Amino acid sequence: RTRELIGRLAVEHRLDLKEYEELVEGFTPEIAAYAAGRAVELRTRVYGTDVYIRGLIEISSYCKNDCLYCGLRRSNRMAERYRLDAGEILACCDAGYELGFRTFVLQGGEDTAFTDEVACGIVSSIKEAHPDCALTLSLGERNRGSYQALFDAGADRYLLRHETADPAHYARLHPADLSWDRRMACLRDLKDIGYQVGCGFMVGSPFQTPATLAADLKFIEEFRPAMVGIGPFVPHHATPFAHEPAGTADMTCYLLSLLRLIGPELLLPATTALGTIDPCGRERGMQAGANVVMPNLSPTDVRKKYELYDNKACAGSEAAEGLTDLSRRMEAIGYRVVVDRGDAKRRMEAG
Ligand code: SAM
Ligand code: SF4
Repeated sequence: RTRELIGRLAVEHRLDLKEYEELVEGFTPEIAAYAAGRAVELRTRVYGTDVYIRGLIEISSYCKNDCLYCGLRRSNRMAERYRLDAGEILACCDAGYELGFRTFVLQGGEDTAFTDEVACGIVSSIKEAHPDCALTLSLGERNRGSYQALFDAGADRYLLRHETADPAHYARLHPADLSWDRRMACLRDLKDIGYQVGCGFMVGSPFQTPATLAADLKFIEEFRPAMVGIGPFVPHHATPFAHEPAGTADMTCYLLSLLRLIGPELLLPATTALGTIDPCGRERGMQAGANVVMPNLSPTDVRKKYELYDNKACAGSEAAEGLTDLSRRMEAIGYRVVVDRGDAKRRMEAG
């Protein structure tokens, strides 16, 4: 029955909520291997064996929010805070360009120092210096006018994980001043404005169930984002979830495969969190249907301070300077890191 559902998802790219729940509950290593095979088939049809890379620049560890799972939450008084200035961010992009990156992702906590004026100035100077590059922002919730201003300044894509498609689950992961409705409104605004939008969630977050995961899959099927970022939840010692178990690489890879079956054209990263809990996480992600990796381009002295969770990987293949190492590892499993903006391809109907 589970195989039949996977077969149907691979062709129709949609299922009912209850069927998604059955798929999640039906996880076994054999089922996951079957789903991965079908997912790789679809990914190969759309993207071949290309691996898109994005240079991730973590621009600030200040955050006004207090998400219960994150090491950057404002209540974490132990966190070391830093903020890059425009010159430092541009220098990261210049270095990344030399290495072969054609997409930069500016990510940070919700830092009020990045006003529209400051952020738009940074966006336009990057686009002016590197007009052949795509720019992705991941700066959390902002108002519609702000998203519009950043888009007009030249930003192409925006990553804002929905975190969970279940409002009650959302409320258990966030303090009362953050609302699921507002998160959804932000995602709609971003799409309306014309961004290539990315949503996503943590795998194994506290209180997650097969039902909430099914809701995530249904939401993604209907919302049709250009990108979906998923990675295992990994506890951070100075958060309320310090003693919660981490998500697993097995479940993350299975869900990557299901996402590929929902969206053959999706941009799906094998995330740092996956690479952190499993040394072969990047490879396993590709073999489950992912097609993107986001090595760290932040200045090396700040990387340890962007501590979302314990032992976050930032060296070797996780680091932009380790690009040759990453390319070698990808070649070893039959994939090819390419110098490309790596835009989403349009949906190609199965022939
Ligand atoms: N502040 C922005 C936001 O929240 O959208 C961007 C940065 S935030 C650190 C990026 C993502 O990190 C979040 O969407 C969340 O899913 C993930 N994250 C935070 N804490 C995590 C943890 N303990 N384990 C795994 N992922 C985590
Ligand atoms: Fe801030 Fe993002 Fe961490 Fe929430 S997940 S505390 S918004 S950096």
